[in-house]
Amino acid sequence: MDTKRIHILVVDDLPDMAESTAELLALWGYDATACTSGIAALACARVRRPAAVLLDLVMPRMDGFEFARAFRALKMTRSAQGAFVSLPGGTGELVDALAAALAPTTVTTLARVTEIRRAGDYSIEWAGGSVRSRALVLCVPAYAAAGLLRAFDTGLAGACDSIPYASTATVAFGYRADQVRHPMRGTGFVVPRTERRALLAGTWVTSKWPGRAPEGHVLMRAFLGGGRDPHRLERNDDAALVLTAEQELVELLEISGPPLFSRLTRWARQSPQFAVGHQARVTAIEQRLKALPGLFLAGSGFRAIGIPDCIADGRATAATVAGFLKRSTAA
Ligand SMILES: Cc1cc2nc3c(=O)[nH]c(=O)nc-3n(C[C@H](O)[C@H](O)[C@H](O)COP(=O)(O)OP(=O)(O)OC[C@H]3O[C@@H](n4cnc5c(N)ncnc54)[C@H](O)[C@@H]3O)c2cc1C
Repeated sequence: MDTKRIHILVVDDLPDMAESTAELLALWGYDATACTSGIAALACARVRRPAAVLLDLVMPRMDGFEFARAFRALKMTRSAQGAFVSLPGGTGELVDALAAALAPTTVTTLARVTEIRRAGDYSIEWAGGSVRSRALVLCVPAYAAAGLLRAFDTGLAGACDSIPYASTATVAFGYRADQVRHPMRGTGFVVPRTERRALLAGTWVTSKWPGRAPEGHVLMRAFLGGGRDPHRLERNDDAALVLTAEQELVELLEISGPPLFSRLTRWARQSPQFAVGHQARVTAIEQRLKALPGLFLAGSGFRAIGIPDCIADGRATAATVAGFLKRSTAA
């Protein structure tokens, strides 16, 4: 990537902080500009549209929130609208669009692979079907990959199994806007460990994305469990988790009255934990894969933590697979 062309605006009323951050970004190859006030930053943004803004929220005269509002009003291109994007009907639309773009005979969905065998190429089996292939990309959680690989490479399976996963519960709450005293400016909050709360974080869904609740209503989502509090989900039933999340939100956001609805989802072993040593584990996995031509691993357990990284990893893996198939066809 040619980072030189990427313009980043650093806004902080502490000159040392603004300048040292801009210098650091410049060392990494970005074209960074330091501004020590929201007003100066806005003037700069009018002349040179930044791809991203690193913004201090607490500043005299024009604070970060006010700057953000004025900056959005400049009607920048999409890349300058903020870090968070979604799809109007939810992220499931992405999968539906991908499935629709593929010829129906080339894709099998809702099939749980039960066994993979290797005899030169790969034989992939599921209840009611099987397929043979020269190349195989496993993009399942690392522990699921371990289960499928154990039959022909116990070492690789063990390495995949060593990647830890955490379970999380999310609770969505709907309120009338007038029930919530907190202004909910921003996208949500993360709760520091020192506060000793059950809540890990909260998303103000209606502040983050438009159209997620009817006019005059707000939607928020609380996160519980995770790597920080692994036993909470085992010890508590759904009702207890909802109650805990509600009580803490009421306290933090000054909410009056009960929610209009709440909905809990348990995400069991859905969050890979990139613990200390993760890079070494992935390197060991990649080393072992060299002995298994045509086999590739992708997805969030290995080199990607969120959806954008998964997409980038998927693209890079697809290019590697295409190269492998071309080479093996030519040989
Ligand atoms: C609560 C929560 C909130 C999140 N919020 C965000 C967010 O706001 N932004 C963001 O970027 N990321 C977010 N993430 C992370 C994001 O969901 C993941 O990074 C992404 O879904 C990982 O994609 P993946 O394809 O690697 O894995 P997954 O989405 O886990 O897909 C793996 C698939 O493999 C399937 N599978 C497993 N075993 C088999 C088998 N034997 N045969 C066939 N299929 C199998 C599973 O059913 C699953 O569909 C969130 C995650 C959680 C848990």
